[in-house]
Amino acid sequence: MSLPDSDKRLFALITSPRVVIGSGVILAFAMLSICAFILYGGRQDALEHASDSSRNTMLVIERDIERNIELYDLSLQAVVDGLYRPNVIALSAPLKREVLFDRAATAQYLGTIVATDAAGNIILDSRNGAPPTVNLANRNYFQVQRDHPAWGLYISPPQPSSLLGGDLALTLSRRITNPDGSFAGIVAGTVNLDYLHHLLSGLTLGPHGVMALVHTGGALIMRAPYNPKLIGHNLSGAGPFTKMSASSEGSFADTASIDGIRRIYAFKHLRGLPLIMVVAPAEQDIYAKWRMRAQKVVGVMILFSIAFVGLAVLLAYSLGKKAKAESTLRMLARTDSLTGLNNRRMLDQLLEQEWRRAVRTQRPLSILFVDLDRFKAYNDTYGHQAGDDVLAAVARCIARQIRRAGDITARYGGEEFVIVLPDTDSMGALAVAETLRQAVAHLAIEHAASELGRVTVSIGSASWQGRVADSVASVVKAADEALYQAKADGRNSVFGAILH
Ligand code: GH3
Ligand code: MG
Ligand code: MG
Repeated sequence: MSLPDSDKRLFALITSPRVVIGSGVILAFAMLSICAFILYGGRQDALEHASDSSRNTMLVIERDIERNIELYDLSLQAVVDGLYRPNVIALSAPLKREVLFDRAATAQYLGTIVATDAAGNIILDSRNGAPPTVNLANRNYFQVQRDHPAWGLYISPPQPSSLLGGDLALTLSRRITNPDGSFAGIVAGTVNLDYLHHLLSGLTLGPHGVMALVHTGGALIMRAPYNPKLIGHNLSGAGPFTKMSASSEGSFADTASIDGIRRIYAFKHLRGLPLIMVVAPAEQDIYAKWRMRAQKVVGVMILFSIAFVGLAVLLAYSLGKKAKAESTLRMLARTDSLTGLNNRRMLDQLLEQEWRRAVRTQRPLSILFVDLDRFKAYNDTYGHQAGDDVLAAVARCIARQIRRAGDITARYGGEEFVIVLPDTDSMGALAVAETLRQAVAHLAIEHAASELGRVTVSIGSASWQGRVADSVASVVKAADEALYQAKADGRNSVFGAILH
């Protein structure tokens, strides 16, 4: 089955080594790009998932703290409200305590509640026994309530509580106001930090994540993982804290100076409270699973791409080899091995083509028949091998002389050559033949058995000048007859015939 020329060219183009390797590389690159695109999507998903779970964690913390603080505040308010009711004032100290601190007793983690007079002296203590002789006038929560009548609930930063035997605690306070609006003292309650410790440690955030509750003043109230040394630590100088102070909620990525771990910080100021909660999963935890999967996928894809390009190179190499072998075969099939000129079979094809073209275009066509003179005698004198060498030398001479594009040179058989000269009339053909005859003679190859003393050729020329639609065979025959005439003329000569 033979393909049309345009299809053959297309086939040759797509099977050319460069195209095959190039396609392999492009495909491999495309596969890697798709893989990178999918992996990038997976990374974004991991980040989104992490920020979702940060939001959920914050919601849990926020609700729990708000609910508990509200509960604690209600306990303080109950004391404030009840303290100056006439029927309560009339009660004995133990009964008074029972009535006033009844609600507080139910609030888990709410430590001692005390009430002071306007001078800061403790007048009532939720614990059994006489109130301690402690004066709270120098405490910030006392001063805030004394100096700011409209403050409401005040939550102090974590500080050692004298009421808790020196342990760090948050202190919640409320003002007690006389009926005339003047300051009458405070009610203060300590919140054991265990509450927050318990709350945060119950939530998980990956091995390198950090959750924290920070006072708006900068003091670290609680942190998970728990580190007692850091509680109470002032963070107000640190970069992340500055960012968190600037807006009521948000998120940012930062590298912690303490451990050098990069985290995605999500923060939120608790509504109405001087507290900022921070949930910061570590990037390495967020992407851990993704990274493991990505490493595997990238490894496999790179191997796959290398194999793919390797296969393309192998395919290109074998296609190139095949194409080369085919072109060599094609070349061998149409050339004469001794002279390198077209062989007889090729000549017949090309001659037929040129003849059709000449008839179609009505342009002249000339054929030269070249025959070595006394060649049998040459073989007899110098041997067959030397004869072959002469044939090759004459063929080279012909190839040198006949150089116009479109001219065809062929070995017709034995020591005969045919030259087809398209678009050439008899004058032109005779000129070419004469030049060739002289060129062969000028090779000056010794031929002792010839009357001319050197290797010469006789050339018969036949020209079809386009008037009668004859056959190509008749032109060849005419050239052969002209050759016979040239031989008869004494050899080393040219004879031309014109067909009408
Ligand atoms: P002339 O053409 O001048 O009349 O004499 P000639 O001796 O050349 O006569 P002819 O053309 O009949 O002889 C052809 C000879 O060419 C026969 C053979 O010895 C020689 N010949 C043909 N083919 C080859 C070949 O391939 N190699 C060699 N060495 N000799 C060949
Ligand atoms: Mg011959
Ligand atoms: Mg001869």
